[in-house]
Amino acid sequence: MNSEHEKINSYEIAKKQVDIAAKYLDLDPGSVEKLKHTKRELIVHFPVKMDDETVRVFTGYRVQHNVSRGPAKGGIRYHPDVDLDEIRALAMWMTWKSAVVNIPFGGAKGGVQCNPKEMSLHEIEHLTRRFTWEISLLLGPEQDIPAPDVYTNPQVMAWMMDTYSMLKGYSVPGVVTGKPVELGGSLGRFEATGRGVVITALEALNYLKKPIEGAKIAIQGCGNVGGVAAKHFDRLGAKVIAISDSMRGIYNEKGLDLKRILDYKAKYQCLICEQKEEREITNQELLELDCDIMVPAAIENQITEKNASRIKAKIIAEGANGPTTPEADEILNDKGIFIVPDILANAGGVTVSYFEWVQNLQELLWSEEEVLDRLTRIMQRSYKEVLEISLSKKIPMRTAALVLGIGRVAEATRLRGIYP
Ligand code: NAD
Repeated sequence: MNSEHEKINSYEIAKKQVDIAAKYLDLDPGSVEKLKHTKRELIVHFPVKMDDETVRVFTGYRVQHNVSRGPAKGGIRYHPDVDLDEIRALAMWMTWKSAVVNIPFGGAKGGVQCNPKEMSLHEIEHLTRRFTWEISLLLGPEQDIPAPDVYTNPQVMAWMMDTYSMLKGYSVPGVVTGKPVELGGSLGRFEATGRGVVITALEALNYLKKPIEGAKIAIQGCGNVGGVAAKHFDRLGAKVIAISDSMRGIYNEKGLDLKRILDYKAKYQCLICEQKEEREITNQELLELDCDIMVPAAIENQITEKNASRIKAKIIAEGANGPTTPEADEILNDKGIFIVPDILANAGGVTVSYFEWVQNLQELLWSEEEVLDRLTRIMQRSYKEVLEISLSKKIPMRTAALVLGIGRVAEATRLRGIYP
């Protein structure tokens, strides 16, 4: 949540973005209206037996936004703030994202309102299995394919895949992506989103004629996306000066000892300062650091009209979905900050999810090198397409990405027509 603890409605933002992009697309009002609505929404309330034998009822959601270009695709989030509008927005962004990288998927998202940090592994497994059963009427490799998102991981995907397979009576690996490699997960999937963020950030640096060597990077969030992006920036010779989790950030202007910090985080689930030059900072301070690239890689609505004017980064590469509000966007654009928007920057995850699904359906096994090579080509091509639209129409990168994604979805929807 943003620092003031007032929840900004992401679905309202997502709908506003459709109106912004529609100005540059020749769409009739009915089509615009359709794109702003989700296709299907399932809300489930289900019981879970906790370790102390009490029963708790949880609320979960699965929302499919649009399936004109292919099966619904999108992650599952476990977080106390999950609600229907958040899941709607995230599902819509998945639709545009799949279209930006031009893979044959529609958009979906799911989530359960819960605090996994306060639950045992057993409780999370029971919750996952019952939730999967509750939403199983929507799922299937040809219909709707979940993946990990905030506070879910390959183990959660393994439980989802197993539960769905038990219901069917045979193994269905293609029902989820982001599975452990041992169960048909793709090599390179775990790292894909973070790598995609780095690939597009490198393109942005290249466009602005700035070197990666010594570039100062600040990263909000050190989970799957933030942690992997940090490692790759470091490997490329950049200086990761700050990283955070939900509790705190660590800052060292000379560059962090990432291996030690991330190993500690993996072992003890927290970040601590151990060296003289390191100091603790808040998430807000991290966002406002003087740096070359800032990567928000946690949750939505972190850069708002309240802090946007204080942002000093030259480039923002959005690892998270929806980290910037439209009001903040305007301020950042006026400041000349170059934004690689979420539906482009973090599309590496869905891209390799697509590779995983293809491998599952065709019973193929690609090497990590093959996966990364294909990922790099798709991310670079998509970046180039978005930049070209941005330059030719003289519009910000976010609007350009929306024009590309929404334009493709609108055209597919028009070609299919309205049934019956
Ligand atoms: P994760 O659960 O692995 O990590 C989330 C990180 O954010 C953790 O470090 C957590 O401590 C931090 N965090 C949570 N709440 C926070 C708060 N209020 N302030 C600051 N930090 C906070 O999740 P992830 O998979 O890395 O996802 C991060 C973002 O990237 C989300 O917006 C997600 O939708 C987006 N995303 C993820 C993928 C993927 O493949 N995992 C793909 C595309 C986009």
